[in-house]
Amino acid sequence: MDNLNLNVQYIKGVGPKRAYRLRRLNVETVRDLIYFIPRDYDDRSLFKNLGSAVNGEKISLEVEICGNSSLNRIKKNLSILKIPVKDNSGFGNLTFFNQDYLREKFKIGEKYIVNGKVNKTHFEIQITNPIYEKEGESKKTGKIIPIYNLTSGLTNNEMLKIIHNVLEEYLTSIDESLPSYLIKKYKLMGIQESIKNIHFPESKNNINLARRRLAYEELLALQLGLTTIKNKAYNSTNGIKFPSRDEVYDFLDNLPFKLTKAQLKVTNEIIEDMENDRQMNRLVQGDVGSGKTVVGVVAMYKAVLSGYQAAMMAPTEILASQHFDSISKFLSPYGISCELLVGSISKKRKDEILEDLESGKIDIIVGTHALIQDNVEFQRLGLVITDEQHRFGVKQRVSLSEKGSNPDIIVMTATPIPRTLALILYGDLDISVIDELPPGRKEIETFAAGIDMKERIYKFVEKQLQEGRQAYVVCPLIEESESLTISAAEKLYRELKEDVYRKFNVGILHGKMTSKEKDEIMEDFKANRINILVSTTVIEVGVNVPNANIMVIFNAERFGLAQLHQLRGRVGRGEYQSYCILINESFNPISMERMRIMQQSTDGFVISEKDLELRGPGEFFGTRQHGLPELRVANLFTDINILKAAQKDAKLILERDPDLADPEHIGLRKRVLELFKEPSN
Ligand code: ADP
Ligand code: MG
Repeated sequence: MDNLNLNVQYIKGVGPKRAYRLRRLNVETVRDLIYFIPRDYDDRSLFKNLGSAVNGEKISLEVEICGNSSLNRIKKNLSILKIPVKDNSGFGNLTFFNQDYLREKFKIGEKYIVNGKVNKTHFEIQITNPIYEKEGESKKTGKIIPIYNLTSGLTNNEMLKIIHNVLEEYLTSIDESLPSYLIKKYKLMGIQESIKNIHFPESKNNINLARRRLAYEELLALQLGLTTIKNKAYNSTNGIKFPSRDEVYDFLDNLPFKLTKAQLKVTNEIIEDMENDRQMNRLVQGDVGSGKTVVGVVAMYKAVLSGYQAAMMAPTEILASQHFDSISKFLSPYGISCELLVGSISKKRKDEILEDLESGKIDIIVGTHALIQDNVEFQRLGLVITDEQHRFGVKQRVSLSEKGSNPDIIVMTATPIPRTLALILYGDLDISVIDELPPGRKEIETFAAGIDMKERIYKFVEKQLQEGRQAYVVCPLIEESESLTISAAEKLYRELKEDVYRKFNVGILHGKMTSKEKDEIMEDFKANRINILVSTTVIEVGVNVPNANIMVIFNAERFGLAQLHQLRGRVGRGEYQSYCILINESFNPISMERMRIMQQSTDGFVISEKDLELRGPGEFFGTRQHGLPELRVANLFTDINILKAAQKDAKLILERDPDLADPEHIGLRKRVLELFKEPSN
């Protein structure tokens, strides 16, 4: 079984160069290739003859060339080549557009299998731009052809051959992972047959059967893994019972603002959870800017009042240090000691912090993944908060809470997840929603413009800068390469710094900078020493600079709606009218529609629903967003019924065999480990 971990470069027809290209598709091992599921299929399996051909249908047929080709030039850039063909039921023409070079290709008397769309009129039957091959070859016609996601330098045909080779060599070494009682229960296709049929299906029905089986297997492994992690982490019902403290309400009274109704409701839910002896496990969902942080601060304050420590984990150093700043600002007047633990601080400082954490001198620690390292120990950890949890793996979240003994847990997210799905993915999490923005926020005005408007946009930004405001300028992620993305950002940075905005201070922020550099830039931006910040999407989550009121996004068409919404949420955080300018360089109707939606709505839930509609569920419910392992077959949205079944089965299986040690569960156990192996981040 382990030979499936072999690097793809050793597969016949791959080699180092193609292996490199395949890596861009996240394909590194033989297993990755085997599970590289086609994104679609081209059904060329329907065989008919000219006599029975129906207009509009896509068919394969066997024909004989029965005349000389004729070429018609319709316009300067349009020619039609017609080739007369016949079979024993009638006559017709193969028709090719703009392919004059085929003129000499087809000789009278030759037999071909062709596949294409039928265009039938009263006068003739045409097969338009058909795929063709000599009789007897049957490589391209007469069957269902898989269509794969590709990358530059790799064609579908090449991919097809590679997959063919890998199956030839390895199909028989794939072990069945499902126990026979489940295969029987759902009448599932066996694993080898499923793999074969998902790539080279014998029929449409077989694609469905194969997909159903593979999706079930994957979702079962997902549920088994999640349930195991949850059982391990939260099996205890004796959580901490924090006493009721009036100081919490004094704290609320002394805030510089009044909590919104929604914030107050969620705060009360949290306080109630903390005061009973069940371990709190609560997901707080709230759109960008809804004020999640202060709700977390109240909970931390309450924990500290009762003699416990609290920890807050954020996905990036920028966010962690920002949280640290605001938490210290809120709580240091109350004599609470707060520290920041991130990768970039000096060893000496780190050692001090670790010591003070262990001795209990530090009340609140804020940090990144640095918090879950083995050497971090607490004296009395009572509350764990993770912010923007979709950036963390499930495991990482759990490892922080394991540093205490049944601490209360709050998970904060700005990603709107439909409730039904949330219940399945986070079955045991209670959910609180902050569905209201603080009052007095001016609605962000959003404009979409073409690149031809660049000069006017620059002028507009300049006017705001002259009034003392600040701007973000975001340039897009270039899918293929981080270094290309960065050089695009640098180019724009130089253009703005050396030319357009010479009178202002321009800064740049991107993923390749060290954390220290990033922090310095952010500090300068916060203090308005930088007026315009050119950035890649690293500023996407959580950054808070109220004086910044303009967000310009180049190549906005390359972002999903949810991401644009997150980016836009960086402005509109202060008293000033804010603007979001989307520079759209595409005329694709979907891009136009996206821009229109962004101009019309500022509601995260509405936008994510539209995102779902436009991109299809696959992308929005990309499991990455929820800190779950990447699924290769199943789709959490469309396969919801399979997911429900898998959830039930997983529960039953684990009740009987919690460690999956039973011989009939060994395959499943392997599958679970495989699915949860990659510690992304
Ligand atoms: P998010 O939910 O995106 O994490 P934050 O917690 O960063 O939002 O809050 C955004 C801004 O709104 C912060 O500057 C915060 O101090 C402020 N804020 C939070 N709650 C309120 C409120 N009830 N009234 C006014 N301002 C608030
Ligand atoms: Mg936040």
